[in-house]
Amino acid sequence: MNEPELDCLRCFDFEGAAVRGGIVRLGTALTDVLAQHFYPPPAAGLLGEALAASALLSATLKFSGSLSLQARSEGSVPLLFAECGHDRRLRGYARVAEGAHATGFGAMLSRGNLAITITPDQGQRYQGIVPLEQPELAGCLEDYFDQSEQLPTLIRLASDGVTAAGLMLQVLPGGRATDPEWEHLRHLSATVRTEELLADPFERLLWKLFHEEGVRLQPPESVAFGCRCSQTRAAATLQAIGEAESRSVLAEQGLIKIQCEFCQQEYRFDAAALELLFGPDIQAPTRH
Ligand SMILES: [Zn+2]
Repeated sequence: MNEPELDCLRCFDFEGAAVRGGIVRLGTALTDVLAQHFYPPPAAGLLGEALAASALLSATLKFSGSLSLQARSEGSVPLLFAECGHDRRLRGYARVAEGAHATGFGAMLSRGNLAITITPDQGQRYQGIVPLEQPELAGCLEDYFDQSEQLPTLIRLASDGVTAAGLMLQVLPGGRATDPEWEHLRHLSATVRTEELLADPFERLLWKLFHEEGVRLQPPESVAFGCRCSQTRAAATLQAIGEAESRSVLAEQGLIKIQCEFCQQEYRFDAAALELLFGPDIQAPTRH
């Protein structure tokens, strides 16, 4: 295969080392997410990196569910969110402060935290949080795996606004950062250049990096933009807001509209819909 793969994730491992890896490149999956809002180029680049990372991290899920990374900060990007499911459908969103001109990673996400949340379709949600203390998102994610999971990890991310890509290498649970095989693979991976990550065919790139290490590629998997919102989830948002607040919005506006920030889908709730959610409105008999 000589064409650079787009919207594709490939996992791989090695014959002689307890290390797993993944490589991903997003094209349409990225531009579909970016088309939902206006993003200044630096924020679009950051969101692209976060989306590529979420796809790579989703490959570590061992069950049906999704994995998200969420950064909250006092910088010009107060919120950065990317999520990818076991089905490799991903979505993302970044909130950008109005009139913000900050372009560097540190300015966009200054004094922030990074949370990784694993949400199984069935069972308990798991979340780990680390402070954002590295000059790039990739380094912050490496910190997360180091501190929260004790899993030595290497992550490289790249994004140019049209394409986003990532490479990840991780010691399998039970392995150690001092293993010479890990050190060797980490050293080889660190040589990958941004333009290679964004454009080189995967097989050629992985062969170039690891041809002496017995790299074994698994079949390609498609990655696409896809939202998980639904009328039921929108209703859950209203339940979280509470009956009193929901009824007050309905009384004021005649109709409650909830718009999904990931895909722009609008969900509407009228008086009858609220009655189904909360029961009859016993507080407002005068309207009959
Ligand atoms: Zn949606």
